[in-house]
Amino acid sequence: MGNSNQKDRNQTRDRELGMDRDITRRDFLNGVAIGAGGLLASSWLPGMLAAETATTGQDAPGYYPPALTGMRGSHPGAFETAHRVRDGNFPGKADKPADTGEAYDLIVVGGGISGLAAAYFYRKQVGPGASILILDNHDDFGGHAKRNEFRPGGHLLLANGGTVSIESPFPYSKEARGLITELGIDPPAFEKKYTDHNAYHGLGSGYFFDRETFGAERLVTGAPSGFGRGGGGETKWAEFLAKTPLSAKAQESILRIEDGTTDYMPEVPQAEKKARLSRMSYKDFLLNVVKADPEVLPFYQARTHGLYGIGIDAVPALDCWAIHLPGFRGMGLDRVPSKGLTFTALGEVTPQEEYHFHFPDGNASIARLLVRSLVPGSAPGNTAEDIVTAKVDYSRLDHRDSAVRIRLNSTAVAVHHRGDLASAKGVEVVYARGEKTYSVRGKGTVLACWNMVIPFICPDLPVEQKEALRYGVKVPLVYTVVAIRNSNAFSKLGVRGVSCPGMYHTSINLDQAISIGDYKPSRSSDDPVLVRMGRTPCQPGLSARDQQRAGHYDLLATSFETFERNIRDQLARVLGGGGFDPARDIDAITVNRWPHGYAYEYNPLWDPDWPEGKRPCDIARKRFGQITIANSDAAAAAYTDQAIDQGYRAVQELIAAR
Ligand SMILES: Cc1cc2nc3c(=O)[nH]c(=O)nc-3n(C[C@H](O)[C@H](O)[C@H](O)COP(=O)(O)OP(=O)(O)OC[C@H]3O[C@@H](n4cnc5c(N)ncnc54)[C@H](O)[C@@H]3O)c2cc1C
Repeated sequence: MGNSNQKDRNQTRDRELGMDRDITRRDFLNGVAIGAGGLLASSWLPGMLAAETATTGQDAPGYYPPALTGMRGSHPGAFETAHRVRDGNFPGKADKPADTGEAYDLIVVGGGISGLAAAYFYRKQVGPGASILILDNHDDFGGHAKRNEFRPGGHLLLANGGTVSIESPFPYSKEARGLITELGIDPPAFEKKYTDHNAYHGLGSGYFFDRETFGAERLVTGAPSGFGRGGGGETKWAEFLAKTPLSAKAQESILRIEDGTTDYMPEVPQAEKKARLSRMSYKDFLLNVVKADPEVLPFYQARTHGLYGIGIDAVPALDCWAIHLPGFRGMGLDRVPSKGLTFTALGEVTPQEEYHFHFPDGNASIARLLVRSLVPGSAPGNTAEDIVTAKVDYSRLDHRDSAVRIRLNSTAVAVHHRGDLASAKGVEVVYARGEKTYSVRGKGTVLACWNMVIPFICPDLPVEQKEALRYGVKVPLVYTVVAIRNSNAFSKLGVRGVSCPGMYHTSINLDQAISIGDYKPSRSSDDPVLVRMGRTPCQPGLSARDQQRAGHYDLLATSFETFERNIRDQLARVLGGGGFDPARDIDAITVNRWPHGYAYEYNPLWDPDWPEGKRPCDIARKRFGQITIANSDAAAAAYTDQAIDQGYRAVQELIAAR
């Protein structure tokens, strides 16, 4: 009886949330929208193989992955083969790959920014006739730099499915900057010209206290301007805190943290202070050094999620000082580079010019510009502005007339030299599409895929290198995009962004407003708009790498339905006071799931202090005959410029080895 009552309640709640609403995700079950019918014979292979491979759909009319909603990012169909290779279940010993008969100057494994940049640099150096094949396991190119398209009421709205913007802890290198410039992008000029910082004028930040975490449910708006970065004024903070369900003791602690001027280590020299802070987590700093009330922890727990993919329990206090979290004002720490900071935090204290721009689809625009340059006829236009609304013709990507070909839905499963390492004439790469495997030959290959994949597909590598490749554990993240009918609820509540540290997604934000080329964002609060939500599936209490492993499994085990229910429930609770009704107001949902997201950065809490040149990434990226290694893991730094730099290095090593 009890169970059936609960079931009834769940069904009623599902109806209220609109779980039965026919939003666009229903058309694209788990992100797969490519119907089997109407597929054309592929243009990339001799007739014998074309029919077998056509089911991957890349050449089919209507094939257009950016418009898919539902489960995207690492979408179903992208990763299963690689997991079977990892588990030793694919390909079978007796499975002989079909020889495509193709031979390329270069084969690139991985169609992310690093692989695309490698192809670009290689062609630039070797000449326009260089034949290049790029393989990627996803249905779209760009790796983490993916594009999400929505068309509510026929109006194009864009979002980044992954990589947000051009920015980096350190200045872009000559090569990375050179590439961006050659593509026509001038980040500081674009930022000034195309970003509308006044679009949400009058709307501020809010903080949502959920009943499960804070004992009472409340949206508190009017967060002080220094919110999240320290500062903001004591009075404003006191007013803000008084509206929260936090106890008087917790409020007093937060006031001390945010506006305090205490030096918690008064007798300790600067270098020693920094060393101590680099060896304790921010959580431990708050509890044991500041002696804050433990009730404040959930208030701060998710502050590091966006940059690190883990909470304050696993990020060093020194890093939190560098990224402007509060509590350090009285400690007199000089903002200069010092030992004990992660790559990201080191950049925060390194002086540099402003170099930032967010395209409406994030750095997918860089990927699309690279593809347009590499593959003739793949997209119309010729400026960095017109790429934003240009429609890519996917049937051109793997066309026999093009010297550079991009083969999607293709997982590299084996890479080896043809003959002895010392005398090898080149490499053979075997890749899978569905259950079938195919072989291609190349003079050399750049592995611009993820480090942890490489030992499985390239088992001939030295043991020490394989161990080093396995060291980092990529950081899982989810970027959810929800198309809603209008932003009136945000306007009524006076917020453009809400932190929700105890909830399924820990942030909710209206998308940035950028007008570039023919792209126009929503103008009025009555217009359809995109809402960005961020989720980090970390598991506090474990080591950073174990949190990442746990988050990875969590993401792969979570169905789209579970995501959707959580999204609807959260938006109803947070925005309900402004009149938001999820059953009425949600038009589409895209969950960009990245079980293998950011490259693993070394963190003094969890990793040794290796001598120069001995970090796992240094050992992992060594050239092996005609095989070189790119991708951002090779730099142990999750940034676009690092991915480009590694693509450049890998190409130089390959060319020099010939
Ligand atoms: C959610 C998110 C947000 C980010 N935001 C920013 C940002 O704002 N600014 C910034 O500078 N950086 C950001 N980054 C980091 C940046 O996206 C990466 O550093 C960069 O794009 C990595 O490029 P890559 O080519 O090295 O790897 P990827 O983009 O991961 O591309 C590698 C490709 O290789 C494929 N692959 C793997 N194995 C195989 C195989 N066996 N066969 C075929 N293909 C394979 C992968 O599936 C993938 O498509 C972000 C990353 C994430 C995940």
